[in-house]
Amino acid sequence: MNQVLFDSLLVIYLTQAAIGFALFFIFRHFSLLYNRRYLLTWSWSWLSFSGAVALFGYVAVATVRYHIGFWPVQLLNFLSLVLGYSHLIFFLVGVTELVSEQDSKRSTLLKWLGASVLLSALLVISYSSGEEIHPLRDFLRIGIRMLITALSFIVAGLVIHFTKRLSGGLGHRIMSWSMILFGIEQGYYCVIVVMSSLFSINVSFPHFIGVIDIAMIFGIGLGMIIWLLEDERRKLKKANQELDSFVYSTSHDLRAPIASMLGLVNLARMEVRDEKSLELIGMIEQRVKKLDSVIGDFLTLSRSKKSQVEMVPVSLNQLIDEVVNDVKFAQDAPSIRLIYDRSHNFTFKSDFTLMKTALGNLFSNSVKYHNVDQPDPFIRVAFRRVNGKVQIDVEDNGQGIRSENLGRIFDMFYRASTSSNGTGLGLYIVKEALAKVDGIIFVKSFYGVGSTFTILLPQPKQ
Ligand code: ADP
Repeated sequence: MNQVLFDSLLVIYLTQAAIGFALFFIFRHFSLLYNRRYLLTWSWSWLSFSGAVALFGYVAVATVRYHIGFWPVQLLNFLSLVLGYSHLIFFLVGVTELVSEQDSKRSTLLKWLGASVLLSALLVISYSSGEEIHPLRDFLRIGIRMLITALSFIVAGLVIHFTKRLSGGLGHRIMSWSMILFGIEQGYYCVIVVMSSLFSINVSFPHFIGVIDIAMIFGIGLGMIIWLLEDERRKLKKANQELDSFVYSTSHDLRAPIASMLGLVNLARMEVRDEKSLELIGMIEQRVKKLDSVIGDFLTLSRSKKSQVEMVPVSLNQLIDEVVNDVKFAQDAPSIRLIYDRSHNFTFKSDFTLMKTALGNLFSNSVKYHNVDQPDPFIRVAFRRVNGKVQIDVEDNGQGIRSENLGRIFDMFYRASTSSNGTGLGLYIVKEALAKVDGIIFVKSFYGVGSTFTILLPQPKQ
């Protein structure tokens, strides 16, 4: 064989073995991480594949370059055949486990592996009688394996392609098509082997075929990984939706008993005269109200997550009016001056309810965390358009936030102050509501001086 061709064949075998080995590690890791059996089965398939091509390559080099003995070559042939068949068996069992969503029985797997050991031994022994190349030998040792490989990959690719449950995403398509193409390529090899071994027609493999091999194997591995990540994402999304529905329905169901508890507290206050009991009733009322506000925040969060976004022209004047209306009865609100120029009649495109939720929470915080013992407590709202975006600033000269807390105030349940009995959900709700209209929010604040929350909203092109 030409030296250059020989070396390039070696490189191809080694590359395939390296890809197989890398995929073995990746699939083993994912199988432990996600606890899915077919990933483990596939990992064994890739390990067998890697071993088979490495041995195949070694036998090719050893027989030509080192003239190793006859029996060691037979042993290596036997091992590479066993590994080659194991690769197929593990691969098919993995596909069956994936498609049927059922783990295979270990005893069935062992039976198949046993059969492959027997078949490989038979093939090696039956044609090991002499050095002379038997015409049937190549067909039986290589041709049949290629035929089975071709059929297995084509059938597996088609089954995966037509299994609707597997989604039809990019990973699914890459995986199924690479399997089908790999199968067709192996079928083509098989035809060449049959022609040269059975009919003595000398057709050689095209030089570039090894590179196509690598591309297909890489495609199958990559497709499997992308599919796995897409599938995990789908499962995570589903789990999140279920969690959101659970939070929504639980909060909803808790609302009614809480309202009756508050009613009963009021009733008790009318009936009871004893000072100590009245004090206890007051404490119960406070706790129940706190519970009510947590549940209320959960409901607002769930509603804004569930709601369909409706982009409409929003009037900032109307938005501010409604928000101010909601907070005007809060403690200290009357002492705070609102600085906002209504005369510009600003309008922008967004979802009115989500914007009301966001601005409502910002206003209620500015009131809650204000400092009314100063000459001019104020909340200032400013609006402008910057680079096709709308910027809304809500500024106050209240308590401000310590710099070490600034990075966490948008986290769920994070409270940076004990001066109010908040739930720590307000700014998280603001962030989530704005995310639904692709908006972002950031804050600038100086402790003891005040805070400015800035909302940036992209605007659809006219
Ligand atoms: P909550 O108000 O229920 O505690 P939020 O998520 O609304 O929760 O706010 C998180 C924390 O950010 C608050 O505990 C408070 O310390 C701080 N904060 C939010 N808005 C302001 C503001 N306008 N001025 C000062 N501190 C604020």
